[in-house]
Amino acid sequence: MRFKEEINESYTMVEAIREAQRCLQCKVPQCKKGCPISNDIPDWIHELKKGNMGNAISIIRTKSNLPAVCGRVCAHEKQCEGSCVLGKKGEPVNIGKLERFVADFDSDNQLTHEDVVEKTRGKVAVIGAGPSGITVAGDLARIGFAVEIFEMEAQCGGVLRYGIPEYRLPKEVVAREIRYIEKMGVNIHRNTHVGVEITVDSLFAQGFDAVFVGTGLSKPKSLEIPVYQNGRCISEGEGAVRSSDLKRVRLATHFLRRVELISEGFMRREELPVDEGARVFVVGCGNTAMDASRTALRIGASQVDVIYNRGIDTMTALRAEYDDAVREGVRFNWWGAITEIHVDDNLDITEIVLETSEPDKEPVRQTLPASNVIFAIGATPATKIVRTTSGLENDDQNFLITREVPYGMTTRKGVFAGGDVVGRQATVVHAMQDAKKVAQGIAQYVDAVKLIKLINM
Ligand code: SF4
Repeated sequence: MRFKEEINESYTMVEAIREAQRCLQCKVPQCKKGCPISNDIPDWIHELKKGNMGNAISIIRTKSNLPAVCGRVCAHEKQCEGSCVLGKKGEPVNIGKLERFVADFDSDNQLTHEDVVEKTRGKVAVIGAGPSGITVAGDLARIGFAVEIFEMEAQCGGVLRYGIPEYRLPKEVVAREIRYIEKMGVNIHRNTHVGVEITVDSLFAQGFDAVFVGTGLSKPKSLEIPVYQNGRCISEGEGAVRSSDLKRVRLATHFLRRVELISEGFMRREELPVDEGARVFVVGCGNTAMDASRTALRIGASQVDVIYNRGIDTMTALRAEYDDAVREGVRFNWWGAITEIHVDDNLDITEIVLETSEPDKEPVRQTLPASNVIFAIGATPATKIVRTTSGLENDDQNFLITREVPYGMTTRKGVFAGGDVVGRQATVVHAMQDAKKVAQGIAQYVDAVKLIKLINM
């Protein structure tokens, strides 16, 4: 399947060293300032330039538990590369591609092996093996905590596995990063749903000193749109068929997950929600909308239109993601909204009504042939853990409430949270940035509790 092919080629060793030689080794490196996790970029580029690949990856790993992932999916043009001084008058150093090269070279050649630190400082349970859970687990394992991850899925990675398409982030890359964390002594319980099979309280009863909740956003938002069949609205009244009931209306995260499961062989190709030649409308204009649009084209859609109710200046997708989507043939409709969905007797979509109201222009109403509507308009956290844990509070949008000291502790003592589940972060590296601070908060908390116990003995 075409969606499995990775889009960007890697460097050869000669190309990587040549690119590294462009770095000026700035005394005050702006690239490092631009990186949310303060990656020591000039230091590892310097080692790469000399061909010291082991040293280069060791420097990267002091700050990042997901270097091969960051090298591929970070918003480099807004962060490190966007801050590189060379970018002021020409091309910035291609830091993302260099990081990816170093991380892949390390994995391919098994260069570095993390020393497994003795686990004497305490026991921490991490719920969720997404970017924030992996970061907390890696950082705490590295400083002497026994860490166990509880992941509800059969495969780890969270959004990295099920939310970012294979062509942008091959799943083998995610699996390699997870294997590295396991080699550090982190124990992972897959297919284990906290809030269903076990609870936060039962984790404390098992002797964990702290619990980290990094379950991300798992409830995608949707919109209800009036549905018409044979000229009659069928989405109101008794026996109503709502738009969210239609099998050709999907949430982007569910769509991407299904494509991933099919590519892994867990589902059949016929179960794909988008047929060959389909006309697909994607509602929303963030990175998930770009991923869903490009994936729909890759699996055979003949035309994909993004519908966004505002202008291009306010889209949340990265410019590079938008540019790639345009290059691949995705069409964009600004200031638009789908106001009607028309279905046939089998409830398959036949047409949509698109209304556009650009400021200072006459509104336009068009009826367009359609096969699928995919919503990519954001998500909120699931509430299972809150409902099964006493003392844990969330806000009116279901985000967990946390505090600054110790950083990331929720309203329940010893329970911490970070990443998307607290509503602070929107990208993988920002979730990692937040999780790194929470890992420090957990270490401070566990150390303090143990010290107090010792004093009171
Ligand atoms: Fe090298 Fe650019 Fe960073 Fe300067 S800002 S150290 S040139 S990568």
